[in-house]
Amino acid sequence: MQNQFAATGLEAPEPVEVGWSIEEASSLYHINTWGHPYFRINEAGEVIVRPLAGDEMEVAIVDIVREVRSRGVELPVLIRFQDILRRRVIELNERFRGAIEEFGYQGRYQGVYPIKVNQLHEVVLEILDAGEPYNFGIECGSKAELLAALPHLERDEQLLICNGYKDSTMLRMIVDGQQLGKNVIPIVEKYYEFEDFMAAAGAARHEKPCFGVRVRLSTSGSGKWAESGGDSSKFGVPVPQILQIVEALQSDEKLDAFRLIHFHIGSQIGDINTMKGAVREATRVYAKLRKMGIPIEYIDVGGGLGVNYDAIDSGLSQSINYTIQEYVNGIVYTIREVCDIEEVPHPTIVSESGRALTAHHSVLILGVLSSTKKDLPLPRPEISSSDEPVVRELGGLLGVLEKNMRAQDRGNRQRVARALELYHDAVEKRGEADQLFSLGYLDLVQKGKAETFYWMILQGLASELSRFERSSLPSDLYSLDEMLVDQYLCDFSLFQSMLDHWAIDQLFPIMPLHRLDTKPRRRGTLVDLTCDSDGKIDRFIGEDEEESFLPLHEIVEGEPYYLGCFLMGAYQDILGDMHNLFGRVNEVHVYGDADEEKNFYIETSIAGTSVTEALSLVQYSPADLRKRMEAIVRNRVRSGKLRPRRGVDLMDRYMAALKEYTYYNFRSNDQGSPEQKGENDG
Ligand code: PLP
Repeated sequence: MQNQFAATGLEAPEPVEVGWSIEEASSLYHINTWGHPYFRINEAGEVIVRPLAGDEMEVAIVDIVREVRSRGVELPVLIRFQDILRRRVIELNERFRGAIEEFGYQGRYQGVYPIKVNQLHEVVLEILDAGEPYNFGIECGSKAELLAALPHLERDEQLLICNGYKDSTMLRMIVDGQQLGKNVIPIVEKYYEFEDFMAAAGAARHEKPCFGVRVRLSTSGSGKWAESGGDSSKFGVPVPQILQIVEALQSDEKLDAFRLIHFHIGSQIGDINTMKGAVREATRVYAKLRKMGIPIEYIDVGGGLGVNYDAIDSGLSQSINYTIQEYVNGIVYTIREVCDIEEVPHPTIVSESGRALTAHHSVLILGVLSSTKKDLPLPRPEISSSDEPVVRELGGLLGVLEKNMRAQDRGNRQRVARALELYHDAVEKRGEADQLFSLGYLDLVQKGKAETFYWMILQGLASELSRFERSSLPSDLYSLDEMLVDQYLCDFSLFQSMLDHWAIDQLFPIMPLHRLDTKPRRRGTLVDLTCDSDGKIDRFIGEDEEESFLPLHEIVEGEPYYLGCFLMGAYQDILGDMHNLFGRVNEVHVYGDADEEKNFYIETSIAGTSVTEALSLVQYSPADLRKRMEAIVRNRVRSGKLRPRRGVDLMDRYMAALKEYTYYNFRSNDQGSPEQKGENDG
């Protein structure tokens, strides 16, 4: 039959596979839950971002990646959607305003941004700019953060909340800030800090010192950061010591210095009722202190507003059971209720949300370098009587398995029991073969045959068991599936770019950025470039439990395959370490703009760490390295083993390499597209 498109001269559209749709792709990667309302998949099977609020304008993330690469910026690259940061700041403030109006709350909301969550200057500037109409301020937790934050207080009303342990320099800087007329409030974490602060204020002849107190609540948080609150927390002043502070203030006639009650029960609070319980307890403390004549003005509810790394209330430890609206309503309503019962004024509400403001705005882009498959058909080894017994036994087990697979007369229970037995036998024989090889009783050819039979048995078992629900299988067989997934080698360092995954088991949404109009037929784990066996991602967001693999597409030689790691903007950005001297990744800041051809423009591009910079952090000087390298080359030339011209070339190459990006250099071995190879590791 003649192709209708050939007849019209039009190009045929990319065929969409039967049994596969964009909806299925969306539900496979859960993008409509963790990504809503910022990310979704378009009809072309590409992940798009909607950077602007209330605007349908869409940008395909692969378009950005292509442009970034065409400008010579290498992967991995972190894309910051500055518009999303702004949207989050505005949304948080507007929701508080809405709840205040709805519940007839007589106080205000005045939030601060905890800069430890992402100290990057451009992030802080964007948040402060978007927060200007709301007098949004900053929270700091160390001397360096205080020194960074203080000069950014453009308006006197903006709050600068100072948490953390404070040395005399920090206390003096806080006093200086207050004397400059800024709304700087140190949070007393220990009784002695109160004494130190008042002494510092006295020494500076500061007439109107003010401070807040972090209350040690009985309510503790839930999840990973539960110990930030509760009786055994390392933070906060217990009630008896708060009373001591009050006594000291009374005797000095300085009660008006005590201006704020603070608590923080941990990040990523999973259960809204835990938060409401803490708010209720802290508001009671506030009310009782007010009734004792202390004119406290603020209740600071700390951070903790969570992010859905998967779906709402999915049951995974990363999920939360509330929306921003419910969180805001819970705080405003609870404070109002307690204050009305206690007949005290409604305080100004302060919150220190970090994760919820920053997580969504950045996406880490990885290029896949190669994949290693464990399930490709293997050539069946010949067996003869000269083969070692262990090899013949493994070959025999494979024969039994094949017979088993053909037999139709067995019930499911029997088939699974037989598969389990075969699996255990194969593992035992493989172990025996490995041991015999180590002791020198097996040659390389025999070892090769033993391994091939072993992997063929595993493949056969996996195919035999594929018809059963994974969770209904015995645990040994359950993990068999995991042994056969592919490994996708990606250009990144887990320890630099996804430390939370390694350190605290945080799961991030990860998915291909394109080709989603075709079904991903492979299942893979992601391995990084570091020489560390921990440098891998093998836990992913699943339906209602973690998955040990990610559905991925077959890689096509010479064609780039890009993966996006989402919700990377909180903590991650700043925690990364220098394992194997892989440094900070390249960064681009993208804004949406409907006047541009592809709906976006790249405003800033920040180069990641070069090899020289990474080395200088561990005390290598480029001059010293050059001297040492030159000495080696010179000796070789002098001994006649290297031609002088080759020596000069070698030195040029060495010096040029020092200036390179620390990650895999795609351009050094191809013309700019990730070279991808499929290999059989079976
Ligand atoms: N405030 C304080 C005192 C914190 O320790 C933290 C972080 O744990 C935050 C605010 C930010 O919390 P989140 O990122 O959960 O909003």
